[in-house]
Amino acid sequence: MSKQFGWWFFTCGEQILVIAQGERLPYGDIDDLPLPALEFSRVEQFASYKGEPCLRLELEHPQDLGMGEWVDLRSSMSLLNSQLFNLVGKAQQFALFLKTHQFCGCCGHAMTRVDWELAMLCSACGFRAYPRVSPCIIVLISHGSQLLLANHRRHQKQAQPMYTAIAGFVEAGETLEQTVHRETHEETGLKLKNLRYWKSQPWAFPHSLMAAYFAEYADGELKIDRRELADAQWFEANDLPHLPPLGTVARDMIEHWLAQTSL
Ligand SMILES: [Zn+2]
Repeated sequence: MSKQFGWWFFTCGEQILVIAQGERLPYGDIDDLPLPALEFSRVEQFASYKGEPCLRLELEHPQDLGMGEWVDLRSSMSLLNSQLFNLVGKAQQFALFLKTHQFCGCCGHAMTRVDWELAMLCSACGFRAYPRVSPCIIVLISHGSQLLLANHRRHQKQAQPMYTAIAGFVEAGETLEQTVHRETHEETGLKLKNLRYWKSQPWAFPHSLMAAYFAEYADGELKIDRRELADAQWFEANDLPHLPPLGTVARDMIEHWLAQTSL
């Protein structure tokens, strides 16, 4: 099988080419795809999907390839299944990594690609760099039949304010559990109990890894950190506000909690 057969990830910065058919990404041999001449020497396999190579080609402009349309990563979430969406995120993080690691952070020498792993190497000083992954937590806090949901400042200007779970980045030297307690306390003043890890999800905005937890209210009075949150409230399960879109880990958690909770 040639290197140029598989799932095609044509990317351009934050955009990806999606087509109308099948799993919404071009699939097949490069010679059979209706494409104008492109720079195929730069095609790179970065993963596999259903046993076939995932091939990435970064274009300088979102040019007309005679098929499909260019969409940004966020819009691709509703078009692709979650596995392919995560692979698009991987392709874009990979491109960002290569672009921002052309020179060594220790000595300034030009870096080169390592051919057997996803890394850049400085031949002058031996420094090796890997794509950055930033862990963060998201916690869905319940109290009986109520959920604590917050409207973040960055979502405040939407026509219909969106409410979601508490989230934040892990600080250096912290466990995930410590982050959950610290972020919750900083943003809401509340203390938690019965913390339960649920699952993780890569989130390429721009290079996060979300660790999702369920927790219950233990103690404290709701005091909102106005620097981060525009609002936070307890909502009854049968009267929830505007929620994040399907496919986000926050929405998955809320749906999972609703299905598990007999009200
Ligand atoms: Zn160096």
